[in-house]
Amino acid sequence: FLIPSSRSTISLTLRMSHDQFQARIPLGTTVIDQFLGLKPHPTKCQATYIWIDGTGENLRCKTRTMDTPPTSIDQYPVWNYDGSSTGQAVGRDSDTYLKAVSDYPDPFLGGNNRLVMCETLDKDMKPTATNHRAKANAVMRQIAHHDPWFGMEQEYLLLDRDGYPLGWPKNGFPAPQGPYYCGVGANRVVGRELVETHYRACLHAGLKIFGTNAEVTPAQWEFQIGCCEGISMGDELWMARFLLHRVAEQFGVIVTFDPKPAITMGDWNGAGCHTNFSTAEMRAPGGLKHVEAAVKKLEPTHAEHMRMYDPNGGRDNLKRLTGRHETSSADKFSWGVANRGCSVRIPRSVAEEGKGYFEDRRPSSNCDPYAVTGMIAQSCFL
Ligand code: ADP
Ligand code: MN
Ligand code: MN
Ligand code: MN
Ligand code: MN
Repeated sequence: FLIPSSRSTISLTLRMSHDQFQARIPLGTTVIDQFLGLKPHPTKCQATYIWIDGTGENLRCKTRTMDTPPTSIDQYPVWNYDGSSTGQAVGRDSDTYLKAVSDYPDPFLGGNNRLVMCETLDKDMKPTATNHRAKANAVMRQIAHHDPWFGMEQEYLLLDRDGYPLGWPKNGFPAPQGPYYCGVGANRVVGRELVETHYRACLHAGLKIFGTNAEVTPAQWEFQIGCCEGISMGDELWMARFLLHRVAEQFGVIVTFDPKPAITMGDWNGAGCHTNFSTAEMRAPGGLKHVEAAVKKLEPTHAEHMRMYDPNGGRDNLKRLTGRHETSSADKFSWGVANRGCSVRIPRSVAEEGKGYFEDRRPSSNCDPYAVTGMIAQSCFL
């Protein structure tokens, strides 16, 4: 893709990660529109199967034709793929399986076309190493009588095609953080076109998008998904991430969920995925005592949570959870009302109303929401 033309270009090319290498100027969208605008096939539709690969962090997809649009999730056939190309199998025994778990209208193709979230199974039809859904689903079934609701706040950073944060000066840094959070104006925010497009895409797909805002670091944004019941939190957040990557692809920019990209190691906020949680008891009048009881259950398992809150056993999150930049320290559990420097925050409105939910501020922006929600449910109730 990149043809080095000078010494400096060569060194830039060598420093680029895969993500950056693939980014390119979008092809002619008017040409695509012409074909997407053709009369749809009278019966057939396209189903795009989406799954989490062996990194536990990146998404893959492939598309197949269905003779008629499925009307229930079990009408999607189990499909296979080459797991040796996704870090999920060895070459000589590489078939890995996709089982549909939830499906959504496809905002890119429109019509009857569907996006299908899948879980991955190995050659013996057992969950693969990065399939955290299977275990989380078992936990959610056990606590279903508590009616668990989750809401997750996904932070991310937009990168230009060269891997540099979008809109940042190429030979230095933007003015210090302060004016960018929920900012308005061309000197405050960058990439709103993408954010609005993603919002519409989520609504079209039927996701429970709660809202969005510009974040503290320039080119950093957040969207929230929720309230979602049980295992659907993971399904919906992964699908919302897929939509974000695909929208960004069309704009020719890159989304990173890295909690602390190297270039932001200075005095810039990292990226998290705050996870809000409640049960029927917590939401009922006087539920605050149930909120507090659940929060206290999180203390003894803090270390285990930290290992599950990013795809690299807690290492990614160490870069972010420094005790500065609105974070708690990684090695000590703490909680408080309205305190954004704690592991867990009880929002002031919850304390005042005497019922509601708590916010776990520890998960990294690149966390697996299945692992996070499963861990919270398990620690609080099992
Ligand atoms: P913050 O003030 O931490 O930035 P946001 O407004 O970004 O909060 O996000 C609030 C999140 O809390 C949303 O994802 C929403 O779905 C979630 N939420 C609200 N009420 C509940 C509840 N009762 N149980 C679980 N999650 C909730
Ligand atoms: Mn092939
Ligand atoms: Mn938020
Ligand atoms: Mn935020
Ligand atoms: Mn928050």
